[in-house]
Amino acid sequence: MYRKNAWKKYAADSKEVFDFAEGYKSFLSEAKTERLAVKQSLELLKKAGYKNAEELKSIKAGDKVYFINKNKNVAAFIIGKKPLQEGLRILGAHIDSPRMDLKEHPIYEKNGFALADTHYYGGIKKYQWVTIPLALHGVVCKKDGSVVEVNIGEDPKDPVVGITDLLIHLSADQLAKPGAKVIEGENLDLSLGNMPLSEEEKEPVKAQVLKLLKEKYDIEEEDLVSSEIEVTPSGPARDYGLDRSMVAGYGHDDRSCAYTSLKALLDSEQSEYTSCAILVDKEEIGSVGATGAQSKFFEHVIAKLFSLLGESDPLWKARLAMENSKMLSSDVSAGFDPLYPGVNDPKNAAYLANGIVFNKYTGSRGKSGSNDANPEYYAFIRNVMDSNDIYWQSSELGKVDQGGGGTIAYILGNYNMNVIDAGIPVLNMHAPMEIVSKVDLYEAYRAYKAFLKA
Ligand code: MN
Ligand code: MN
Repeated sequence: MYRKNAWKKYAADSKEVFDFAEGYKSFLSEAKTERLAVKQSLELLKKAGYKNAEELKSIKAGDKVYFINKNKNVAAFIIGKKPLQEGLRILGAHIDSPRMDLKEHPIYEKNGFALADTHYYGGIKKYQWVTIPLALHGVVCKKDGSVVEVNIGEDPKDPVVGITDLLIHLSADQLAKPGAKVIEGENLDLSLGNMPLSEEEKEPVKAQVLKLLKEKYDIEEEDLVSSEIEVTPSGPARDYGLDRSMVAGYGHDDRSCAYTSLKALLDSEQSEYTSCAILVDKEEIGSVGATGAQSKFFEHVIAKLFSLLGESDPLWKARLAMENSKMLSSDVSAGFDPLYPGVNDPKNAAYLANGIVFNKYTGSRGKSGSNDANPEYYAFIRNVMDSNDIYWQSSELGKVDQGGGGTIAYILGNYNMNVIDAGIPVLNMHAPMEIVSKVDLYEAYRAYKAFLKA
């Protein structure tokens, strides 16, 4: 059903929609980083009986397997009835979200405060990240090979950290600046403490913080060089709106599509074509590096499947299989915000509660950097949606020349695969608190499931 309010479909009984959102809320509340999203995904995969492909000697049609890459990517498969070479049905989402990362040498003392320097990750409006409770998540990797997991600020008994901002009374100069400069990147520094270690003369407040880190995690200051500590909003995902129709949380972009894609695979049985859900990292900074969508990881994984199936020439066949594949690039869309209607072309915008959104193209300044999906493929997708009674809509990211953005779609498109962007509309995208509609979550899940069967 094209461009209709999806709540109408569930007017008589919306229990399945609300129940589905509960599972998502607990996933999102735990999966604050890409590593934690992988950990959550792995639990779901194991519970559903998926096997680690790296531990198998062979596989066959009907098998359910997964690969993990560097604790930051998941690729999971149900081997289909047709030969793998005839292509896969792929759902691809990203599990990194905008945030701040601690610098390699972060902790310093100034005017009686211990502070931590950060470098932001992805596109953020910096002024949104001050004066809110923040948590620290990540790992510290020590020279002896041990890995210490850090998690501070989620347990209600934990302290939180945060970034200060000027009081309104003294903000005359600050408020005269343009929005992008109101909070400067180098001022995104966390307050870690304000209490001196009594026996320490030099930097006593910093010494106190380092002592606490030593006691809790057995780490020295220099160990932070080889750490990955991400600064995220603190606290769980919550119902949003008096009618509880929406979910407020950190990281809907793109964990809402990651969860619905993975769940669609987990709740599916073997179909004609091999089903796949792949979750990648680094989308917010250009899909680069070993764990981004541009990595050879995915191509190699398909080749490994051919090897496990006992086939010769696995890498060549992997490329043929990718060329014959169809993919939904599961990523969020900009939801139409009634407070800011001017940034959209209203007839080509995505509306909350109107179901899963397809973007034929994204990009900016004349579609630059986008994967412009073929209309032949789009027609196939429309048929899948309508014949499965799925509420769906089409949109582009804002009105022409208002801004723009990209997804992983073009990267898989480079394999000569049919790809289209398909995801959930979000309000407040990239803010510490993003908003999605529960009915869109559910329709996206149903759409992904139908696609895997198509
Ligand atoms: Mn995204
Ligand atoms: Mn994004």
